[in-house]
Amino acid sequence: MTRHNIPKDHPRANSLKIRANLSDSFDNRIISQFGLIAHGRGEAFDYILGETTTKISLKTIQAATAQLLLSNSVISVNGNSAALCAKNIVKLANLTNSKIEINLFHKSKTRANKISQLLKKHGAKDVYGLNTKYLTKIPGLKSNRKFIDKRGIFLSDVIFVPLEDGDRTEFLKKMNKIVITVDLNPLSRTSVMSDITIVDNLVRVLPEMIKQSKNMSNLSESDLQKITKKFNNKKQLNLILKYMSKRLIDLST
Ligand code: ATP
Repeated sequence: MTRHNIPKDHPRANSLKIRANLSDSFDNRIISQFGLIAHGRGEAFDYILGETTTKISLKTIQAATAQLLLSNSVISVNGNSAALCAKNIVKLANLTNSKIEINLFHKSKTRANKISQLLKKHGAKDVYGLNTKYLTKIPGLKSNRKFIDKRGIFLSDVIFVPLEDGDRTEFLKKMNKIVITVDLNPLSRTSVMSDITIVDNLVRVLPEMIKQSKNMSNLSESDLQKITKKFNNKKQLNLILKYMSKRLIDLST
């Protein structure tokens, strides 16, 4: 990151560092140019959110973590999530006993291999989604993200897909999967269609999920089920929209 020279005392140093990391990840062919655009969309919503994890999101994160601990789950990784959080993805997968699978919208074998290497550098043992021998298709889905691993997403009940696109969410739901997502845009099709939508920045969400996985490791199955059963995604999305609207109104008065 030396070529970026971000002054430590810059008021937006953290955001600039993340941008620099993504720019490097684009040069290193971990993310695509579309990933850079998606990051920009996320940043815009994060400004509105106040770049913080709200109490509303903390509750959603708790439900998502309980759901992962309860289930046969997979974390579906794309270029952006790997570039932003490879280390924490591996940590969370270990703590919640989730598999890791790579699924790219803009499919490229080189990029998938690079992402796999990055995850393995951070300790991932098995990374699914690469070996064509095990790939099958999500019935009906046309985009390149139709490919899923027979040992991973195909077999799992719960799919944690941070930064997902609406089409695939729709088809994962048609396959009766429980979908957990992280999306700063509460209005996206993914946010609306998922079972658990964490409206927050992935870079803040994963450390919190790791913390909560550790806190919840002693809970019984029925205690975890109590958390997931009382969760209502529609209600949480309404709350976060109201939070964002109120913040904008407060800032304008
Ligand atoms: P739809 O779900 O309606 O198809 P979309 O076309 O915007 O929406 P994607 O292109 O996959 O779907 O966009 C990814 C989403 O991820 C965007 O809504 C963007 O706001 C969000 N996003 C980008 N970076 C982050 C981040 N770091 N943390 C959380 N969300 C992010």
